[in-house]
Amino acid sequence: MIGDMPADEFRAHARALVDRIVELLENPGTRRVVPAIRPGDVERQLRDLPLNATAMSELLEEFERVVLPALTQWNHPGFLGYFPNTGSYPAILAELLATALNVNAMSWESSPGGTELERAATDHLRRMLGLPEPLFAEITDTASTGTLYALAAAREFAEDLGIRELGLAGRDIPPLRVYCSEEAHSSVDKAVATLGLGYSGVHRVATDDQFRMRVDALRAAIAADREAGVRPLAVVATVGTTSTTAIDPVREIAEICGAERLWLHVDTAYGGAAAVIPEMRWVLDGCELADSLVVNPHKWLFVPMDCSVLYTRRPEKLASIFAFTPAILRGGPESMDLMDYGVALGRRLRSLKLWFVLRYFGAEGIADRLREHIRLAKLFASWVEKSRGFELLAPVNFSTAVFRAVGADSDQLNARILQRVHTAGSVFISHTDVGGRYALRVAVGNIRTTEEHLIQAWSLLRAGAESQP
Ligand code: PLP
Repeated sequence: MIGDMPADEFRAHARALVDRIVELLENPGTRRVVPAIRPGDVERQLRDLPLNATAMSELLEEFERVVLPALTQWNHPGFLGYFPNTGSYPAILAELLATALNVNAMSWESSPGGTELERAATDHLRRMLGLPEPLFAEITDTASTGTLYALAAAREFAEDLGIRELGLAGRDIPPLRVYCSEEAHSSVDKAVATLGLGYSGVHRVATDDQFRMRVDALRAAIAADREAGVRPLAVVATVGTTSTTAIDPVREIAEICGAERLWLHVDTAYGGAAAVIPEMRWVLDGCELADSLVVNPHKWLFVPMDCSVLYTRRPEKLASIFAFTPAILRGGPESMDLMDYGVALGRRLRSLKLWFVLRYFGAEGIADRLREHIRLAKLFASWVEKSRGFELLAPVNFSTAVFRAVGADSDQLNARILQRVHTAGSVFISHTDVGGRYALRVAVGNIRTTEEHLIQAWSLLRAGAESQP
């Protein structure tokens, strides 16, 4: 027998699987969010299985028995860690279609509909966020990739250096510098190192008492670098930093970038979503002046992993690096080939899930859900503030509260509390470092999270703080 699984068999499994998915998402209560396993448990059970064909029913049984209980349940309403996200139903339907059609939207010719849907979906999101026209956009897997591309474009922005043609090695080029705040995401360091500028090519600018980049410190750093013969290239500002969700003063940073002819990239991977709420649109103030901006529908916009959008006013800088097209892929002069704007050649149909989610829920529907998440985070923060045993460590700008238990040996105490919460298993929270202190972090972002889940988290946190070491 050759060929694919028989269609009837697929139909039967697919129907049963849809029921199972609904059951998993609608009745998550009894399932642990945090798996109770030891390192190696899963691999040990799966590694040496026979190489022969296996019935689908057996594979599904194995998934339920071995894999599912070992997964941290990201699509569970008790998931309050990192930045939570949602595999929403419209997106699940889109992913089923995208996989079934197995589209590769590398060029217009390879998928006219895929290419144009990506343009339409990213423009739909642009309108929801209140960003100006015209903006080129492309979907990438993650914000880390988007930031890498943006900083590659920034390197091209310094045209006189001719790095695309000549590279960096063996040449008389000054050290190049990218500025971001102390709180910026590590994807900036990764991008700068990947682009050959070295980790020392990142200058982390001091922050104020609300963890925002200090523009006076940025100005001073740029001036000192110029004085020392270092060439400033770009600034990365953040709207919603990973640890404390701080909002850098983008407009003031943009003014500095304009005066200094530096590329401005804004990382709004998490916080940008809030701009869908009309009264929160101010969070992107100044972003219309940015050269590039990244936002993650796979964080707080109900689109599952992976889907990040990179916007830029200067797509020609991306194309000047990445448009490297062999004859087999060359399209006509009118062709819009998204492969020309990034490293990846093959590009899957991520746009369909973005399109379905944005259109199914609509701007108002999304805004209502995000508002509720902000309400929940502020409510949680009010419990922290009112309690004797805990203190809030940062303002709640979005849907994330950062706090810690107070007491002797605070770092150990909070680490212990986190461990206890996770041992109970019904909610997942994160820890972080705030000014050198171990802190706890509760973030709301899953579409099914309700007040009940926060009540549960709060009760576990208090119990953890009260129990003896
Ligand atoms: N930027 C910020 C502010 C983040 O919080 C994160 C991840 O949490 C990233 C970038 C990286 O996102 P991704 O996983 O899409 O690369």
